[in-house]
Amino acid sequence: MSDSEIVFLGTGTSEGVPRVSCLTRQPVTCRVCPDAIQPGSPNRRRNTSLLIRYRSPEGDLKNVAIDVGKFFYHSAIEWFPKVGVTTLDGVILTHQHADAVGGLDDLRDWTNNVQKAIPLYLRQSEMDHVGKAFYWLVDTSLASPGGVSKLDFQIIDEKPFDVFGLTITPLPVDHGPRTMAFGYRFGDVVYVSDASGIPDATAELMNDAELMVMDALRPAHPHGSHFILEEALEQLRRFTPKRALLVDMTHDFDHVSTNVELAKLKESEGLDVQLAYDGQRIPVEL
Ligand SMILES: [Zn+2]
Ligand SMILES: [Zn+2]
Repeated sequence: MSDSEIVFLGTGTSEGVPRVSCLTRQPVTCRVCPDAIQPGSPNRRRNTSLLIRYRSPEGDLKNVAIDVGKFFYHSAIEWFPKVGVTTLDGVILTHQHADAVGGLDDLRDWTNNVQKAIPLYLRQSEMDHVGKAFYWLVDTSLASPGGVSKLDFQIIDEKPFDVFGLTITPLPVDHGPRTMAFGYRFGDVVYVSDASGIPDATAELMNDAELMVMDALRPAHPHGSHFILEEALEQLRRFTPKRALLVDMTHDFDHVSTNVELAKLKESEGLDVQLAYDGQRIPVEL
C-alpha cells in the first residue's frame, strides 16, 4: 500500500483570490471574494502549485513542489504544518511567470535552517529569466550577508527526468502565443496548470490518466493564455481521464455552486470533473 499523495498548495490564478479591489470597492459587488476571506473558505486561492509526496528508492518520504509562486510562503505556512512537510526536497518549474517563480527567494528558510540546498528543475529559458529576476540566487557572491536560497540548478529539456526515483515527463504546451509552458506527467497523474493549447506530440503523452489536473481560468470569455472552462472540458473529453480537477481559477468561480454544476457532467456523460481547492490532498500510486 503506497502512501504517495499530491497536495494542492494553491489553485488560483496569478492575482489570487480574493482580489483586494473586490474587498475595497463600495458597494461590494463580488460574491466570491468576501467569502474567500472567511476562515476555511474553499474560494481562497493562492497561486497554483502542487506538492508531490512519495517514497524514494531508499524509502524516504520526498516532498517535491511544482512551482513556487508569489504566494508560496502563504501556502507553505498554511499547509506544510497540517500535512507534516518538514523538508522540501525539490522544486520543478512549469514556466517563468511570477505566479510560478515568485517564491524562489522564500526557499531560503529550508536551505538556511533545514537542509543544504534544494534542487531546482527548469529549462534553460527559465534559467536565463531567473538569472535576471533573482540574480542573487544564481550568483550568490552578489547577495548581502544573511543567507539566500541555495538552489542546485538542474537544466531540463523535453526528455523525461528522474527526481529521487520518480520519472517526470515534461508536457510542452502553449501558454499564449509566445510562451511555452511545461505540464508534467508522473505515474498516471497528468498536470497541466498553464495552457492555451496542447500540441499533438504532447497529447500522445496524456492518454490513460487516472487523474488529470487542467488549467481553467474562468467560466467564460476566452483569454488567450489560459483555457477557460469550456476549453478545459473539451480537453478532458479528448483525453477521458478517470478523474479530473481544475486549477488556476479566478474569482469568477464560486467553489461550491460550480462543483454542483460540474457534478452533473458525471451523470450526463461520465465526466468526473471538479474544481480543486487549496489544501486538497489526493492519494496517488507512484
Ligand atoms: Zn472578487
Ligand atoms: Zn503563466
